[in-house]
Amino acid sequence: MKKSVKITLSEKEMPRQWYNILADMPNKPLPPLHPATRQPLNPEDLAAVFPMALIKQEVSTERYIDIPDEVLDLYKMYRPSPLYRAINLEKKLGTKSKIYYKYEGGNYSGSHKANTAIAQAYYNKKEGIRRITTETGAGQWGSAMSFACNHFGLELLVFMVRVSFNQKPGRKILMNSYNAKVIPSPSTMTEAGRKVLENDPDSPGSLGIAISEAMEIALQDPYTKYSLGSVLNHVILHQTIIGQEALLQMEKAGEYPDVVIGCFGGGSNFSGIAFPFLRERLLNGKNVRLLTVEPASCPKLTKGKFMYDFGDSAGMTPLLPMYTLGHNFIPEKIHAGGLRYHGAGVLVSQLLKDGFIEAKAKLQRECFEAGVLFASTEGILPAPESNYAIAAALDEARKADLEGQPKVILFNLSGHGHMDISAYEKYFEGNLPDHELTQSEVEEAIAKIDLPMA
Ligand SMILES: *Cc1c(COP(=O)(O)O)cnc(C)c1O
Repeated sequence: MKKSVKITLSEKEMPRQWYNILADMPNKPLPPLHPATRQPLNPEDLAAVFPMALIKQEVSTERYIDIPDEVLDLYKMYRPSPLYRAINLEKKLGTKSKIYYKYEGGNYSGSHKANTAIAQAYYNKKEGIRRITTETGAGQWGSAMSFACNHFGLELLVFMVRVSFNQKPGRKILMNSYNAKVIPSPSTMTEAGRKVLENDPDSPGSLGIAISEAMEIALQDPYTKYSLGSVLNHVILHQTIIGQEALLQMEKAGEYPDVVIGCFGGGSNFSGIAFPFLRERLLNGKNVRLLTVEPASCPKLTKGKFMYDFGDSAGMTPLLPMYTLGHNFIPEKIHAGGLRYHGAGVLVSQLLKDGFIEAKAKLQRECFEAGVLFASTEGILPAPESNYAIAAALDEARKADLEGQPKVILFNLSGHGHMDISAYEKYFEGNLPDHELTQSEVEEAIAKIDLPMA
């Protein structure tokens, strides 16, 4: 084994601001629409579900937003996060390219989700909120939010997608340890959940359904607000701390990436690492490709349609202009639970449409194979979601070698897979099926919804 190359920043060097890509986007996204009137939304329309500080961030066009001291204090538990050069992976591949990764799994939640959980809990507490409701798929978001809420003295109620609730009991126990209440979704606790169960008592659930349930509860009480772990502009804003740090670390390494890669669920970890690099491209002409990777079984970016759609299955959220498979889409039970969402964030959608970023889809077995290769060389067992980014990084390295043009590749290792051991067990047993959604299945799912085109 070769000596590892770890590039750290001191606390003093940690960026003190998040970066807002809205300031620099050549084409601004279309406005969100009110779910009932279908007219452009007023920020106040969101006041029943989100605190004002987060609504302001959602619509802000300021380029930089200061990170509050209380948030920085908690960030310092685990930030700045390390950036590594994957020397031993490179050696095993025999590649001439250099592969770097930013590791976001080294915190209490095991994923990048802590970066926004801490900020969201802080702003809610500051505005006098007592309880938060949220959804979680694989459980990383629920875990991230549980600890953050507990820290700031807020109660948390988590609707966990039933298939993940059954696949990943460890996540529920972790959330309970941080004093959160966890309910499998669809549940009988809400009207949205009961409606789904009437039609399908064995429903595996979806993030869209869990969001409807969490929002329904939040709307019933002025001291309860709702919180989302991906997709929205303010969530993506908080995640840019990843790329802000990575820029400094690559500079320390004396290197600039040719391509920056992240896996894609709703867009937060990819945007978090990629947007500060996109800023450098837009403002300073620094050439870099931005590549995001989704599962072939949930291919909203590569096969979905760009249109207005709801973020949840019951149609309670604003209509957002995004790439989507339709808000009633129920994805296959693949193990990258965090990538099983029907839609994509508005910012990424617009940037993809305008050609600033690239997207590709991959099958899960190849991604697990890449993840195991990574674990055996670099020593970190990746989250199943992160395996998609690793597989794409390997593709880039192999392509560069074929072309005889070595590249500098940077990817985001969004989390570790210690709570996903059963998925790896299935992979080793050969029990991990590949599933690809066809274009005609996508057309069918979208034909079921009747919404205005963006
Ligand atoms: C939630 C999650 C994802 C997917 O969500 P994004 O918002 O697209 O980042 C990816 N990796 C991990 C480890 C996650 O927890």
